[in-house]
Amino acid sequence: MTSPRIRVERLTNVQEIRSFRKHLQSLTKRLHDSPYDPSVWIRRSDVLLSMGYPELATGDAYKALILIRKSRNPRSGLAARVNHHLAIYQPSTAIRNEPQRCIAEENAMLALAQALLQANCLQESLDYALLAVTTYPKNRKLRSVLAIVQSAYDHDQIESEMDENLGVMNALEECEYRRSGHVLSQSYPWMKPDLFSRGADLNTSLQRQILRASWSQCRLEQSTIREGMPLEDRSEGLSEVFGVMAIEDIARKEMLLIDHTAACAVDDPMDRCSCCCGLLAASSVHAKCCSARYCSRFCADHALATYHLAVCGKDLSQFEKAYRKNLATPEKAADELLFLRVLAGAVQQSAAHPLCTPFVKQLTAMYDGNKHQPFDCKTNIIGTFKMLTCLGVDIFANHNFDTWVLQTLRARIGNNAREYSIDGHAHIAINPLYSFFNHSCEPNVKWEDDKSMHSSSIRMHTLRSVTKGEELFINYQEELSKKPYLERRKILRQWLGSDCQCRRCVDEEVADRLGQEIKFPSVLSRY
Ligand SMILES: [Zn+2]
Ligand SMILES: [Zn+2]
Ligand SMILES: [Zn+2]
Repeated sequence: MTSPRIRVERLTNVQEIRSFRKHLQSLTKRLHDSPYDPSVWIRRSDVLLSMGYPELATGDAYKALILIRKSRNPRSGLAARVNHHLAIYQPSTAIRNEPQRCIAEENAMLALAQALLQANCLQESLDYALLAVTTYPKNRKLRSVLAIVQSAYDHDQIESEMDENLGVMNALEECEYRRSGHVLSQSYPWMKPDLFSRGADLNTSLQRQILRASWSQCRLEQSTIREGMPLEDRSEGLSEVFGVMAIEDIARKEMLLIDHTAACAVDDPMDRCSCCCGLLAASSVHAKCCSARYCSRFCADHALATYHLAVCGKDLSQFEKAYRKNLATPEKAADELLFLRVLAGAVQQSAAHPLCTPFVKQLTAMYDGNKHQPFDCKTNIIGTFKMLTCLGVDIFANHNFDTWVLQTLRARIGNNAREYSIDGHAHIAINPLYSFFNHSCEPNVKWEDDKSMHSSSIRMHTLRSVTKGEELFINYQEELSKKPYLERRKILRQWLGSDCQCRRCVDEEVADRLGQEIKFPSVLSRY
């Protein structure tokens, strides 16, 4: 659904914003000291919801619920710590102190149902509100929230009768579509600049990577592509928009660059290289430590250096099976497996913040102030917490993996990963250098998958001769080139955050205004 069903009220009063921020800081500090205290998670959930971050409020409320449930299980390692906070010191008096636990549970359920409602997850909000009222029928607050959720849900059901998208879906897709919500994609104001700006070290390392991958034919430089973009279209890291420039004259049809994949996933990883998703030949390379197999020594070494240590010996098939069974489309399954891979990389490189792990730091998200990100509790919160727990992360005590970090990671991946299909299987890959090439609807470079072994690496070659110092552009989506400029711009907004200002778009806009004929660029007829 493109428009939000529930509009989140933005805070506008400066005084109020300051007060909420202060409150948020102090609760976050308390969570550093007492990560297993459900009441602090509930309070922070309330503050985050008031600040207009229902996705983060959902994460905190759900953490509170997990803690409360664990406190009932004497075999859980966390029970004693949570019970300490719930003021239940003696396990033998647990039953006598049950009322305190119930109050915390009522509050957590209330916070969760409200946060999910604001996140447009109407089905999940209704499910939790119903569960809460069934468990605590006497709680008036819960009953009134259930009434609000039910009315929003019913209203949405009537509205959705006019939703054309539903007509073409099968039952599972429809169920998934109705279940999933969406939240505003945004840069969180407390994120420190060093978590997204590209420092001098990174620039040097990127320059080295791109020179090596292109046999010194091109280098990174400040791009001029976004000059004149309105200020409100600013995105994370906008101050440093790079472009790729030719260092020398390059002839037509020259091989320009090979961009090896940084992370990728396929909906069904059977018989695939667990590093590049390429097909495994008989000569595949076995990992020394476990049963993982790779297509080449290059992939085996890359996996070991970047993420394998975090997954070695862990059974991840539970995720693969669950995604194939529960998620409506193979693309969504691939998305989640890629997220798992990125998290594994962050866990292995735990000396760095997850947003600063080698290739993740290179990625930028696109926030235009109106873009909505898909969001639901089952995938974004429950599924992600399970992944982290499986990777050995304490989701309560390790604040490096706080929900805002996870959402930022998802936004960066969403803006940079490319999806494609081979033999009916959904693939998704992040190629770190390819994302530095800016888009033009009249590109001078063509990119394509490295067809050998179905690897997710990208090969690039020039479409026409290029002169020294010229910026090199690719086409972000091949099907775009045949569409009229207004349609292209509409589609491109998801990556560019504003209207495409490439030469072809600008020329076509002028021609359109003057009522002139629009010519198809000759360079594209050779595509
Ligand atoms: Zn491989
Ligand atoms: Zn291993
Ligand atoms: Zn354009």
